[in-house]
Amino acid sequence: MRQVLRVIAAAALTVILVACAPEAGDSAGTDAAPAADTRTFEWKLVTTWPKNLPALGTAPERLADIVGEMSAGRFQIKVYAAGELVPAFEVFDAVAEGSAEMGHGAAYYWRGKAPIAAIFATVPFGLNAQEMNGWLHYGGGLELWRELYEPFGVVPLAAGNSGVQMAGWFNKEINSLEDLQGLKMRIPGIGGEVLERAGGVPVAMPGSEIFTSLQTGVIVAAELVGHYNDLALGLQEIAQYYYYPGWHEPGPAIEALVNREAWDSLPTDLRVMLETACRAVNQDMLDEFTARNATALRTLVEEHGVDVRRLPDDVLARFAEFSDDVLDETAATDELSQRILDSYRAFQGSVREYHAITEQSYLDTRAGVDG
Ligand code: CA
Repeated sequence: MRQVLRVIAAAALTVILVACAPEAGDSAGTDAAPAADTRTFEWKLVTTWPKNLPALGTAPERLADIVGEMSAGRFQIKVYAAGELVPAFEVFDAVAEGSAEMGHGAAYYWRGKAPIAAIFATVPFGLNAQEMNGWLHYGGGLELWRELYEPFGVVPLAAGNSGVQMAGWFNKEINSLEDLQGLKMRIPGIGGEVLERAGGVPVAMPGSEIFTSLQTGVIVAAELVGHYNDLALGLQEIAQYYYYPGWHEPGPAIEALVNREAWDSLPTDLRVMLETACRAVNQDMLDEFTARNATALRTLVEEHGVDVRRLPDDVLARFAEFSDDVLDETAATDELSQRILDSYRAFQGSVREYHAITEQSYLDTRAGVDG
């Protein structure tokens, strides 16, 4: 897999470099090629993920491998899991201050910096992975994301996506809104705020603390990602019910963060390698989740007897109403936040019409044919 990734990334880089190469005769009368930039760079990358957590935790390792190979060792990135250099929720600050040149996490962890940042991770009932990538890279989303982080001296890039997550693990049946009253649940982002409006108690904690907190009853429910990660953490051993759909995280973007000064210090070729490696890892994570979630679901049900259930429709409908309220209020705080929400909603409106007669229509049709 790593070899394939490197080949893809190297091919993409070649295309970019060839496209950007000056035409013969563009050298303004000089025949001498510019001297190769032989400087080396050694960066630290801090993450919000537990060490070796599949896909989320291994993606930055792959990113570092790709960059190291592409640059023939000129650009080395050393990856630190949550807590190794800084705690999970201090990753953004570490990158902003420059104590680490890079970070890897999710934008909804930084709501304390800018509440609207959560949109750049995921929005309840919002864009799925395919759509999120479309908005970020061809719909103006990435430019807005960079504008939002600019005052902090941090440059964001998309560097992963989990696809639609699961609603989470519950040690209580959820049959109505009544069952959510006072429910303590680990759930980040706008989804957490929605749960709060529905009567629940959202708890912010890094993934590494979920197992113990759920086991000891500090929380009654928790979401992390989906089958692949949840199986790895052993959540099936300590929770009774596994609910879907992941209304709160339909296609969360995982971000790479780069300190602005460090970014500016890179020669153009290394910066292109970094951007290209992020694009490669961005897609690779989704590919890995798609394949591994499917097999992990089967393992959870067939080997661990997990009780998989769907949240009631009326609960989901209320969540959707609260979500719109939270977004409207968050965006109303300043001009940039409103512009970000307007862009997101406009994209969702247009892609929804398009996907209604393509992806959605196809999946509905396939389900019908499968009987
Ligand atoms: Ca999640």
